[in-house]
Amino acid sequence: MKRIALFPGSFDPFTKGHEDIILRGLRLFDEVVVGIGNNSSKQRYFPLDVMKELIEKTFEKEENVRVITYNDLTARIAREIGAKFLLRGLRNTTDFEYENGIAQVNRFVYEEIETVFLITSPNLAPISSSIIRDLHRYGQGVDDFLPYSLSELNKLRELKNSGL
Ligand code: ADP
Repeated sequence: MKRIALFPGSFDPFTKGHEDIILRGLRLFDEVVVGIGNNSSKQRYFPLDVMKELIEKTFEKEENVRVITYNDLTARIAREIGAKFLLRGLRNTTDFEYENGIAQVNRFVYEEIETVFLITSPNLAPISSSIIRDLHRYGQGVDDFLPYSLSELNKLRELKNSGL
């Protein structure tokens, strides 16, 4: 049977830290499904459809990665797509405290689910989506932290909007 892992998150935005977890996850699982949680009570900074497209583009050559969006309990979605594993990254003790709680709740919802944690690669540990949002909000380039280019995306959009 195919070993499928769901990698759930907000990915607002998706970073090189996330990419690293997926690439390492592919050594453990046959398929990694990136699940962008669409929590309607949480206002996003980067639009969901744009982020989905950028993640898909990042893994276009990787046939064992696909991207979904969802608005439901993570464990329920895992069961629905046949994933027995949740993939998560751990950077520090703050991540651990948080992850410990949600891993227990996920097993309450779907008993068979196992959360697999990968310790972040040291060079990527300082990268967080919230810091990137703050930098971007004040006009700082953030492409160094991302596996795709946001500035290129902006240029394309400007061209589109100017009708060229
Ligand atoms: P959430 O809103 O569910 O915390 P995130 O998009 O912030 O979602 O993160 C998704 C997962 O990726 C989490 O397990 C988080 O700990 C992990 N993660 C985030 N940044 C990094 C990083 N730089 N290195 C490794 N794991 C990371």
